[in-house]
Amino acid sequence: MPIALLWFRRDLRLADHPALLAARDAAGPDGAVLPVFVVDPRLWDPAGAARRCFLLDCLRDLDAAVDGALVLRSGHPARVIPALAREAGAETVHVSADAGPYGRQRDAAVERALGEVPLVRTGSPYAVTPGRVTKGDGTPFRVFSPFARAWRAHGWRAPAPRPRSVAWCTGVRSDVPPQQAPLDGVRLPPAGEAAARAAWRRFLDERLAGYRDTRNTPGTEGTSRVSAYLKYGCLHPRTLLADLAGIEDASAESYRTELAWREFYADVLWHRPETHREAFDQRMRAIAYDTGPDADERFAAWAAGRTGYPIVDAGMRQLVGEAWVHNRVRMVVASFLVKDLHVDWWRGARHFLARLVDGDLASNNHGWQWVAGTGTDASPYHRVFNPTRQGKQFDPDGAYVRRWVPELRDVPARYVHEPWLAPDGVPDGYPLPIVDHAEERRVALDRYARLRASP
Ligand SMILES: Cc1cc2nc3c(=O)[nH]c(=O)nc-3n(C[C@H](O)[C@H](O)[C@H](O)COP(=O)(O)OP(=O)(O)OC[C@H]3O[C@@H](n4cnc5c(N)ncnc54)[C@H](O)[C@@H]3O)c2cc1C
Repeated sequence: MPIALLWFRRDLRLADHPALLAARDAAGPDGAVLPVFVVDPRLWDPAGAARRCFLLDCLRDLDAAVDGALVLRSGHPARVIPALAREAGAETVHVSADAGPYGRQRDAAVERALGEVPLVRTGSPYAVTPGRVTKGDGTPFRVFSPFARAWRAHGWRAPAPRPRSVAWCTGVRSDVPPQQAPLDGVRLPPAGEAAARAAWRRFLDERLAGYRDTRNTPGTEGTSRVSAYLKYGCLHPRTLLADLAGIEDASAESYRTELAWREFYADVLWHRPETHREAFDQRMRAIAYDTGPDADERFAAWAAGRTGYPIVDAGMRQLVGEAWVHNRVRMVVASFLVKDLHVDWWRGARHFLARLVDGDLASNNHGWQWVAGTGTDASPYHRVFNPTRQGKQFDPDGAYVRRWVPELRDVPARYVHEPWLAPDGVPDGYPLPIVDHAEERRVALDRYARLRASP
């Protein structure tokens, strides 16, 4: 019986899955598809407890969807996949292409190790495969807006149909899933494809209309919260874009733009894989960051949500409580770490990646670089977020801060973003600001000016 091996990675769904259709077609009417997931230590170990829990739950959901046939194996894919293909007699191996630096190298190694058995890449986790949208002269975009225009002009395919039935190959031994203790007290989204679709539907029905206005207010549930589903491919962005097609209001437009950011960062990383670690803007590689015990102490206060700046502390505590942070607040806390505490963006990015349930190398590290002024921002280093002003503007009644910082629950709205000014003083147990924002802003801009002045 012809067997096509389908290696699931960041595509844990059955709907809108071109690689699944390719595997089914390759197996033919008399064949079967062997669904496989590899627990790769290179990705599993640094993922952090939240992503590990969420991923295991997604895999349980996927296993049920493939009638219990999902084969799980642990180890390096370049060893595991060829061995499994031999064991099952698979004639082809199918994947959705990976655009990340590690994924590309890994897949090339798997392809070599497979020898005669072809590795067939169909589709990717993006509406437009990274690398495909370029400037007229064939060079990559460095700035978001022109990329987004070209991305829209390029367009994307309609969603692939969900196959009515697939003959799954059964009886192949599966490893026991790795151990991961449940995360006590952390509210993760429900896992899997059906939960992802339900979350997306709810957003379309209840929140899309107001998205343009509410997407920046962390105290309201204004965004779609589908990032973890996109990360693991429980949903494909093409599905979302198809549902938005024909809706031309400002909110739908704004949502498409957010999806374009995800595609832009994947594209940037595809062209410049080294920028997951190194400054995209090479001039910024020499910027001075603080290190040593004082910097470590400030980093620890930031990570614990004890900086004395309410919106920063609320964001860092949301990261602990939900393994997710509102986008506006991600920008504020990142700016605070880099420009108020003068800590390398890379440390913050690593901290996020080990904790976010949606942690994604391209969106995260380039989101950090954008804020740090080392990345693709067109007006880079001068942008220093004022945490008090950001709090007042985007959380005017303090709902977000009160939710995550219980010490500030009873502080009047007028002082909730600057409790040090409250007539009764800062509530017991809440710290005074660990730095003076105005002063640190000057320090950051001064370092930048010196860098620019240096030959
Ligand atoms: C410092 C920093 C780190 C970030 N780290 C990550 C990360 O690890 N993983 C991740 O998915 N996003 C990351 N983002 C982007 C953004 O914060 C999240 O995608 C968003 O908060 C997810 O919530 P949502 O699904 O409700 O977003 P919505 O507002 O509903 O947006 C819909 C989708 O658009 C995409 N999107 C929205 N904003 C951005 C953005 N600025 N950059 C890239 N994609 C975007 C996401 O896929 C998101 O799910 C980061 C942003 C910053 C500033």
